[in-house]
Amino acid sequence: MTKYIFVTGGVVSSVGKGITVASIGTILKSRQIMVSVQKLDPYLNVDPGTMSPYQHGEVFVTQDGAETDLDLGNYERFIDVNLTAESNVTSGQIYSAVIAKERQGDFLGGTIQVVPHVTTEIKERFKRLAQKSKAEVVIIEVGGTVGDIEGQPFLEAARQMRNDVGRDNVLYIHVTLLPYLTSTQELKTKPTQHSVNELRRIGIQPDIIICRSDYPISEGIRDKISLFCDVDRKAVIPLPTVDTIYEVPLVLEEEGLGQLVIDKLGLKARRTDLSQWRELVRRVKEPHEPVNIALVGKYVELQDAYFSVREALCHAALYHNRCLDLHWVRSEDLERDGSDALLRSAQGIVVPGGFGIRGIEGMVKAANYARTNEIPYFGLCLGMHIMVIEFARYALDSTEPNSTEFDASTPYPVIDLLPEQKRIRKKGGTMRLGNYPCQLVQGSHAASAYGQSLVYERHRHRFEFNNQFRDILQKAGMVYSGLSPDGRLVELCELANHPWMVSCQFHPEFGSRPGRPHPLFHDFISVAKDVLREGAQPSLPLIKED
Ligand code: GLN
Repeated sequence: MTKYIFVTGGVVSSVGKGITVASIGTILKSRQIMVSVQKLDPYLNVDPGTMSPYQHGEVFVTQDGAETDLDLGNYERFIDVNLTAESNVTSGQIYSAVIAKERQGDFLGGTIQVVPHVTTEIKERFKRLAQKSKAEVVIIEVGGTVGDIEGQPFLEAARQMRNDVGRDNVLYIHVTLLPYLTSTQELKTKPTQHSVNELRRIGIQPDIIICRSDYPISEGIRDKISLFCDVDRKAVIPLPTVDTIYEVPLVLEEEGLGQLVIDKLGLKARRTDLSQWRELVRRVKEPHEPVNIALVGKYVELQDAYFSVREALCHAALYHNRCLDLHWVRSEDLERDGSDALLRSAQGIVVPGGFGIRGIEGMVKAANYARTNEIPYFGLCLGMHIMVIEFARYALDSTEPNSTEFDASTPYPVIDLLPEQKRIRKKGGTMRLGNYPCQLVQGSHAASAYGQSLVYERHRHRFEFNNQFRDILQKAGMVYSGLSPDGRLVELCELANHPWMVSCQFHPEFGSRPGRPHPLFHDFISVAKDVLREGAQPSLPLIKED
């Protein structure tokens, strides 16, 4: 029988509930317990695919092509699993499913209500993931904060589960924040008491409370929370802010969370092995020489918009014993201030995915700077479109080559809508999404990075390289290093006369793992780290003294 852990959030959002959930997964997996994870998002969008990254950060794509919340990326990276569409449930999905059933006549004669119809639909999603994943434990993160209007049906469904599947099979964990008052120099527990009261009002008594704080949490504070919130003393788990998110599983394990969950859910205790994780944290904390990478994007004010890209760069830098020194460059600033001013110290340039025309010319400038100064360049989806546009402008000696996404009437549409996209009118969930095969062309940077001839990578786009320009750009020095197996689609391209200018039509960042960087990120950093920029000193050969 699958056991369920529900994780709710109290006091404020953005306290790291997603990382905490991912870390609980890590701890259980380290005991050889099979886990799966689900994120419940209370908003009414069916998925985050149509939202701007400014709303909730990056849209994470699963292998089966679901556009999901960025927390799924953390779950995948921490637990090292590949999740599926069932792992992200939104209110929009629930309500549209219930209404579709009503229209079909499934509830003939009845009045459709939040309880039981909506809550039953929600519980079916919990059980569906349990069945499909065959996990021993499903961890379910309830998005938002307790008290939000939209979150109520999810909390009610979570409450009902205890009766449905048995008390010993459900655990409630509440993640709260203890704010610090500078004037009195103390942490306050009152907001936590209030959010627990709010949970109790709904009928949920938390079994464990995880207390986030920027300051150390005293024994007295733990006692107070235990008393007022009616939770075992050892079930009040402090989680102070740590240097790296990868430390969170270690902190929680140290505080006994793993054993607590095992005991409370009656799971078979197995030996814990977090040694790889400890080694990872040790290496992250070790001082390393920096590698300076510029990320040129449209949404850089909100770094969550590029969460997986940053993580993938970190994984690769760490592999090469470097620390990532990431410079966020607003592409619009490049249009105004010029490349030299903003990219002078970059040892490598990344142009990540994106949509819409704003900032495009700044990105083209970045690609031009990378090409003409022989700086490593890595284009991800939109970044590939940018590289192709820039190269075509050079090869065709014209300023007009463009993507039809940005200039519908360009005489040189080097990037154009995929043929199968031309008839599509509905915007939600209709891009080319999820895993597709890519055949690598031997002798290319990409093929040598992967060391394989066929790979599967995750896509999320409508536009693609226009094959009418294949020959002319090839003659000028573009190499098509990865193609769809039928040869129809350019999935990877690179420049022949450049140290490392490689772009892909897919999103390799989603597949990177802390101890296992993605091959393309790995290769990009391995070249970038040796690039010398203004002010940098080449490392001197060590002279052995006799
Ligand atoms: N806007 C481009 C397209 O739709 C690129 C998308 C992306 O970068 N994910 O094809």
